[in-house]
Amino acid sequence: MVNPFESAQRQLHLAAKGGDFSNELIDRLSRAEREITVTIPLTMDDGSTRFFEGYRVQHSGLRGPYKGGIRFHPEADLDEVRALALWMTMKTAVADIAMGGGKGGVVVDPDILSSGELERLSRGFVRALYRNLGPEVDVPAPDVNTTPEIMSWMSDEYAKLTGDTSGASFTGKPVDQGGSEGRGAATGQGGYYVFEALKEKLNLPRSVSVAVQGMGNVGGNAARTFVSHGHKVVAMSDSKDAIYNEDGLDPEAVEKYKAEHRSLKGFPDVQMFTNAELLELSVDVLIPAALENQLTEENAERVQAKMVLELANGPTTPEADEILRKRGIKVVPDILANAGGVVVSTLEWEQNKKNEHWSEEVVLERLKETLIPQANVIYKNAEESGVTMRIVAFRLALKRLANALEKVV
Ligand code: NAD
Repeated sequence: MVNPFESAQRQLHLAAKGGDFSNELIDRLSRAEREITVTIPLTMDDGSTRFFEGYRVQHSGLRGPYKGGIRFHPEADLDEVRALALWMTMKTAVADIAMGGGKGGVVVDPDILSSGELERLSRGFVRALYRNLGPEVDVPAPDVNTTPEIMSWMSDEYAKLTGDTSGASFTGKPVDQGGSEGRGAATGQGGYYVFEALKEKLNLPRSVSVAVQGMGNVGGNAARTFVSHGHKVVAMSDSKDAIYNEDGLDPEAVEKYKAEHRSLKGFPDVQMFTNAELLELSVDVLIPAALENQLTEENAERVQAKMVLELANGPTTPEADEILRKRGIKVVPDILANAGGVVVSTLEWEQNKKNEHWSEEVVLERLKETLIPQANVIYKNAEESGVTMRIVAFRLALKRLANALEKVV
């Protein structure tokens, strides 16, 4: 099993190698500024108490308050959260927003909890950590298995404990509870803007075929966005199955079916595949939108897509990166491709601090203005220097972090 934190550190060191960065900067970024492990006691519906382990890793505050999601997952662990936090530092710097990088996790399978238990666990996470959170300190957001509702419970708990009712300490809240227009779809939407910026440069056809792995917040929204712009999503998957139809799927119908049946099995007029097979389909664009370590040295030789748009964090291992590079497959790295989520989260934070509510049009325009120039610069530099877009994106982030470091030392 590939350790995601080792992968993230290797990416950092690979990027640092050819650039003019101080050892101090790279040493700082190889580790987190603060790591907190907590035990969250949870009163179950039957009156018993169970204990869950939670983490918050505050990787770098060089450019602003720590920012990053909280993941609820049975296999969450400290190294995964460390990796995700490091990537957040790089991502906020790539997007050039005044935030740092952090991430959180709770080791739990939320499917086994009742709604009441889930709420108490979410509030418990905040009770355990609120002294280390806050609008100018650390601003969490949703990630895998955490929803706008969970963010509203967390935000409410934070307000009860601290008296700060601004809502600016958690983003990704429901729109009627201080959330931003456009936040739900932001990661998929941002990924789409990046794709559009690069599409012609990569000689992709006007209408592309797409395979999307994972159909949660990110994958589901990405699939709908691609279809709404006239592209064909031929494959989608959940954690168990993938479905394929070469004429294209209707993502809304797939999501509705999944919600009703809690499975993709039995969906009409499709071929059933495994998640592993989905990654090897002959499509123009492959979108991993689930978990880390999906493209590895085991399967990278068999990937047939022309572009890999990384909407998940860390879906490609460094070994797979090298194989895909040699094969001429363009990987649009997570720290650029999925930055839409944190960009709109930061706009939500700004709205909460100013007590304003902006229209979806304003939010999406700012998202577009933020991401497209970065995508263009990263692509151009990668072409000129003959290295991957991931390395260029890391170097761009490192330059901005080096400027921030100069100001504090
Ligand atoms: P989610 O919980 O809404 O959805 C996760 C999806 O992945 C579900 O469809 C689930 O069935 C599927 N899945 C789980 N395990 C799988 C497996 N082993 N194989 C295939 N599919 C599997 O989570 P999300 O918010 O959509 O996050 C997905 C990815 O996007 C993660 O890597 C996350 O870190 C990243 N991301 C999320 C955001 C955000 O704003 N939510 C922003 C940037 C990046």
